Amino acid sequence: MAPEELNHELIHTLQQWEMEFLLFYLWYGVEYVVRLVQYRFDATKAYYNISFEREAYANERNLDYLRKRRVFSWWRYLREDTVGKGGCDNVPAEGTKDE
Ligand SMILES: [Zn+2]
Repeated sequence: MAPEELNHELIHTLQQWEMEFLLFYLWYGVEYVVRLVQYRFDATKAYYNISFEREAYANERNLDYLRKRRVFSWWRYLREDTVGKGGCDNVPAEGTKDE
């Protein structure tokens, strides 16, 4: 596993801890449905624009991020202006995205 992939998953681990796990998955599911509607049922775009994924993809290459990250940092990724108009474009090549 590449360092940035591990970093991505560790960012999710912190998100899950601060959301008490169950709430993380509930929020993740609800936000995915909201993003599906927002991005006109483009499932890929909806996935990459879930705030947890926005935070993880935006910071996975920053291997210092976990040490400096503040709790509930994903919260500011709810806002469109953290990723630019039209949502997150950080969509990797087919077959490289995580679950
Ligand atoms: Zn992810």
